This record gives sequence, C-alpha cells and structure tokens, in this order.
Amino acid sequence: MIKYDFHLHTVLSPCADEEMTPNNIVNMAHIAGVNAIAITDHNTIGNVRSAQIVGERLGVTVIPGMEIETAEEVHVLTLYRDIESAREIADIVYKNLPMIKNNPRIFGSQILMDENDNIIGEEEKLLISPTTIPIEKLFKMVKSVGGIAMPAHVDRHSYSILTNLGFIPEELNAKWIEMSYLVDDTSEYILNRTDLAKYKILQNSDAHYLKNIASRENILECELEELFRW
Ligand SMILES: [Zn+2]
Ligand SMILES: [Zn+2]
Repeated sequence: MIKYDFHLHTVLSPCADEEMTPNNIVNMAHIAGVNAIAITDHNTIGNVRSAQIVGERLGVTVIPGMEIETAEEVHVLTLYRDIESAREIADIVYKNLPMIKNNPRIFGSQILMDENDNIIGEEEKLLISPTTIPIEKLFKMVKSVGGIAMPAHVDRHSYSILTNLGFIPEELNAKWIEMSYLVDDTSEYILNRTDLAKYKILQNSDAHYLKNIASRENILECELEELFRW
C-alpha cells in the first residue's frame, strides 16, 4: 500500500509558487506521510534529479515524471521507471517545443535548482506551450521506454482530453486516467461517465503551492512496479 501524490510542479514550472523547491516539496510530502511522489513539471524533467536526491535522504520515493502538452493541447501525465528513460522522452519533448522565450514577468520564472535548493540556472524557453507531438504518438513514445502515460485531470475543463477530444481514443491503449483532487468520489463520477469505467484512476494534487501537496489522501493498493506494467 502506497500513499502517493504523482502530480507536482516545482519552481521550474512558471505557474508554480516560488516555495515549490525540491527540499520544500519532498519535506512536505514526508511530513504528510506520503511514500511516493512524482515531479511532473510542464514539458521538462529539469528538477527531478535534485528532488530524487532529497527523497533518498528522507526515504520518499521520487518518480521521474513530466506533464506533457500534446499538439491537441491535451495535458498528459507521464511517469518513468528511471531518470534515463525520462531524459530520452524529455529531449524529444524539448525539441518539439516552439522556440518562444519565456517572459518571467508575464508567465513567472522557470528556475533550475540543485538538491540544496541553490539556483543553478533558468530555463529560457517557455515551457507552457503545446508541443508538436500528437497524443497517439506521445503515448507510443512513452510506452517504448517503459513509462506510463495517462490523460491528466480528465474532469477539468481546460487542457483535458474529454474537453478537447470528447473521448479517450482506443488507439492510445490507455490503462490509467488521472482525476483532479476536485473530484470527491471517483466511483460516483464514473456513474455519469460509464465510458471511463474500464480505466484505473489516479487522483493527484497537481500542486503548484506547498499547501496543496497531498491535500487529499490517495492510496495505491498495488506495488509501484505494478503501476508500470501495461
Ligand atoms: Zn495540467
Ligand atoms: Zn499540472
């Protein structure tokens, strides 16, 4: 049994609060009794390794992840077994992000930090743009490195697969979907969307602020490894 929160943004996401540093996030999760988290910044894994080092110190598993925006402007939550396979996808994602320079005054800063929360750089390319990768191709790519991809926050009205496409295409071979913390009861939600009944559901905080980390207690009944089995 795992207490998890697999959708967290660090200071590298321009929209995240400046307190979302690797140390603050992992410590907050630790205090909340969470065993496993995923760092899922927009279209990048730049702060994952630093958070993993903090996690190793505190006994919190930090899964490499990324919230990728597809060409259809759908957010897809992706999780990886290790940093190497995450980097393979992150490199492709970066190449498929338009060359738009971030304006920190409009969008916020995109800060890279080491494991002691020292600033080690700033990402200049705006990370919150849609990539040119179509959703079907993205799912195949992530699967090819042994990672898992799932439509993010399907209950929300923006950047969600159900809003933008209206349904979950069979070709994705999706096994998991993510619902936001706003859904009180996922089984009740499915009563009105029976097409979603066949998917396993993860519920995450999508925290951009420290106070939202693990705002809802989420329990995974299986082992972590099972998550990656398709
Ligand atoms: Zn999102
Ligand atoms: Zn997010």
